Amino acid sequence: MSFFDRLANGLGTLLGVLVDTTVQVISGIKRGYDAYKRQGGVTGAEVVDEIARKKDRLRSVNDEIMHLRNQHMSSGSLNDRARKRWEDLRAEREQLLSELNEGKEVRAAEKIIETEGVIDKVEIDLETTHVLQYNAFADTLGKQCRVCGRPMKLQWKRDLSVAEPKDFYWGCTGWYVQQGGRRACTHTEQLQRNDYGLMTDTTAPEFSMTAEEFSIILTDKGTEKIIDTRLNDLKSDLISGHRGVELATCPVHGENMVLRKKQNATGLLDAYFLACPYWRPNNAGCTFIEKLKSGSQLAALLKSETGRGVL
Ligand SMILES: [Zn+2]
Ligand SMILES: [Zn+2]
Repeated sequence: MSFFDRLANGLGTLLGVLVDTTVQVISGIKRGYDAYKRQGGVTGAEVVDEIARKKDRLRSVNDEIMHLRNQHMSSGSLNDRARKRWEDLRAEREQLLSELNEGKEVRAAEKIIETEGVIDKVEIDLETTHVLQYNAFADTLGKQCRVCGRPMKLQWKRDLSVAEPKDFYWGCTGWYVQQGGRRACTHTEQLQRNDYGLMTDTTAPEFSMTAEEFSIILTDKGTEKIIDTRLNDLKSDLISGHRGVELATCPVHGENMVLRKKQNATGLLDAYFLACPYWRPNNAGCTFIEKLKSGSQLAALLKSETGRGVL
């Protein structure tokens, strides 16, 4: 099953659509969605429940895998039974991740159909790179590494205050996976011409200005303080609700990422990052983190979790 012969994300954005028209693309998604429903596919509140159930199961599977891993590390080996259990759990995790991915596609298609009236095409140029960064925050559905099959993520050189279109690339998430002291996959791909076109809800106030204007607004001390307070509040809400960030998940463990704040940060764009729930300081756990080094990522996070972006 897939409604998308192209890339999408949970923000209701389609990626890689420079040469298509909005009407064609959305009617294609509607056809796919209707056909899926007719075949008895789970949608709406039911798919939300199913995703929640599978995530619960995933958490128990991950916890047990971690427990076995720790046992293996402390005693140097596992007995045959424990080893067999470990393999079964890993297979179950793969299955859950692929089912959860289907659920995410259904949700993304629904989001696109619901917001159809405000979806417009954005061509990425020097003035609109912040729209691409905004969308890099959420998991991209349908972009797999052609070397290892893991999901890929939109990346860019993080130390730039305003990134240019040529600074973006796709990076394999295997980069974050350590295997025998080496990164499991370091494959990257340049963006193709078609990748520089998105279809997205353009009503976000952040999109009514250029990338540069947006970055200037964020240098205002007052604005910076307000955003910092809102992020702190969101962080506390997530902790007290025992929740992670819905649209960004760890590619290895599949769980929602946790919003964290760095000690001794040099400013707002250095302060926050998303980490896998199995992340531990000093590379002791899962190494998948995502630095929130642009105003656009912070806007996407706040918008998807609280309903309002940074402006
Ligand atoms: Zn790869
Ligand atoms: Zn992880």
